[in-house]
Amino acid sequence: MSAIARISKAKVKVAQPSHTGHPAPGARTTSSIKSVLWAALGCVAMSAASLASAQVTTEAVPGEIIVKLKGSGKSLKSQAFLGKAVSEGGLAHKGSWAGLNMHHFKVNDARPVEAVIQQMQADPDVEYVEPNYILRRPDDTEDGEAMSMAEVRAAANSSSSVATSSFTQSNAPVQFPQAWEAASASGTTIVVAVVDTGVDYNHAVFADSGAMWVNSREIANNGVDDDGNGFVDDIRGWNFAYNSNNPMDDDGHGTHVAGIVLGATQNISAYPMSPARIRIMPLKFLDSNGMGTTSDAVKAIYYAVNNGAKVINNSWGGGGYSNSLVEALNYAYNNKVVLVAAAGNSANNNDQSPTYPASYPIPGLISVAATTDIDNLASFSNYGAKTVHVGAPGSGIYSTYPYNSYGRSSGTSMATPFVAGLSALILRENPNLTAYQVRELVFSGAVPVASLTSKTTTQSRMNAYNSVQAAKSAVASSSQPSSQASAQRAPAAEAQAAGCGLVKAMRSDFSGPGSGDGMKQLSFFGVLLLMLAPVLIAMRLRHRNSETYRRRFPRYQIASEVKLCVGDRELVGSVSSISMGGAQVNTDAWLDNGGVVAMVIKSPDGREEITVSGKVVWSEEKKRYGVAFQDADTSSLNSIARWTKSLMKAS
Ligand code: CA
Repeated sequence: MSAIARISKAKVKVAQPSHTGHPAPGARTTSSIKSVLWAALGCVAMSAASLASAQVTTEAVPGEIIVKLKGSGKSLKSQAFLGKAVSEGGLAHKGSWAGLNMHHFKVNDARPVEAVIQQMQADPDVEYVEPNYILRRPDDTEDGEAMSMAEVRAAANSSSSVATSSFTQSNAPVQFPQAWEAASASGTTIVVAVVDTGVDYNHAVFADSGAMWVNSREIANNGVDDDGNGFVDDIRGWNFAYNSNNPMDDDGHGTHVAGIVLGATQNISAYPMSPARIRIMPLKFLDSNGMGTTSDAVKAIYYAVNNGAKVINNSWGGGGYSNSLVEALNYAYNNKVVLVAAAGNSANNNDQSPTYPASYPIPGLISVAATTDIDNLASFSNYGAKTVHVGAPGSGIYSTYPYNSYGRSSGTSMATPFVAGLSALILRENPNLTAYQVRELVFSGAVPVASLTSKTTTQSRMNAYNSVQAAKSAVASSSQPSSQASAQRAPAAEAQAAGCGLVKAMRSDFSGPGSGDGMKQLSFFGVLLLMLAPVLIAMRLRHRNSETYRRRFPRYQIASEVKLCVGDRELVGSVSSISMGGAQVNTDAWLDNGGVVAMVIKSPDGREEITVSGKVVWSEEKKRYGVAFQDADTSSLNSIARWTKSLMKAS
């Protein structure tokens, strides 16, 4: 067995018992328990985070809204509005963005968010109001290999094939080593914010090179906001997901991304490490499940800009068109901060259905597609001849993982930090360039490749050497094009799909290039319900004897997440056993015996999902339910048959 295979194929983080630098957030411990269970069940390399469905693009936090008021937040009018919203409007004030007159509310009662949004839009004091969307790191495809640092270094020294594939970033054709050679001996140390799941700042690669950003204006652990930036003791960035000063990575994604950013600027397998030419500012807004919200993403972006980052890496996405996010990104652009964003991993044409934030038409934003070692477009990569800009390596990329390990991942999440690292190298040569100019230098240095011809605006894959060379002689301009992305007042809520009263996408008027007009975004469950409606009605009439159906098939132990749609409720739960005839579903919610549920069940490895409906045929303690499938289609049954091949039979 090879050294690689010996190491746990699950992310190393779940195999390690403890690590002093890592927080164990009490409220989130279930996810780490889940991770351990996943590892124990041999569910290869998939953390709970990977269960997150990238398809549900317009999920939002139930009951939460973001409201931007006209005028200054200090005005009496604004204060009166806030007071009234709380005292009469049934809203709880969750927070404000200092200086922006933007506020975060939670609806106290059972009113649908759509109704509250509609009502508030009519208020003349409101500039815009929108749902607090849920954002996610994309489902990166992991190749299931992890190596210790010693193994990586040994492999690198032995010139084995592993070493060659380990460091795609050091290989031709991206020409990083040549770029490093060409780079000036000294230059401005550029700060790159990694807005993600956090970074394991204790990893030797970052610690030995001094790559982590330090807030020198803050005194550690004195309980005082010394620099007055609104964050107490933020010596190394911020954790917006848990609102703490510890941006430690509890997922692995952000550490991998950060390693690629650093790896784009120097050899991260060298020993000893050279002093870093850049600094990485870890801003955690995705939780241990890789999930975050618009409100936290917005905070992270303002933090990055206000605290000196010149490049922001955004290997995440989701949600509908968000005014608050557009404003934050425009703020970054207007402060000459380069924005690099993952095009997404759904093999989707972003020209036709945008992926945010990558699809926002901000002139300093670079939307990155993923390419393979031989310059093909990666099979999973989103693309868009009008809206995705440039390709970068994103297939089987080795980089840092928490606990001093390395692992390999594929995704536009991995391609994005290559471009972020390159942007930092460009700015290091020429720190006064505008964000627009940096983007132009990335584009002009890129090399045409056939696979990107009709897939990206540049039809090219990045080349670090060309861009760094060109940066040396570029003349910084004093102005840059204004952003085409603007906050827009949302239209009245539309598309009230029958069934689950989930938060629908409020936006339908995104008018960026190539987006088409009036694209309606129903919620995933809305569409699901509409599709299933005839089936559900037919089933209510049929009264099949589901109990016998359930017992006809062998059951298998499984640990998967499930989303349930029951009447107008959306629920989440887990599936602990499955057969061709049904599943045991665990959820805290009350389900009626005989009730019909629509379910989206994830495969054990989280890479696919099936949509089936069923009927509740038994229950235990109103927490565990037997659901017999009703008219499951062939493709779902085929999927179950495939999954259960590697599962243990349930007793
Ligand atoms: Ca501070």
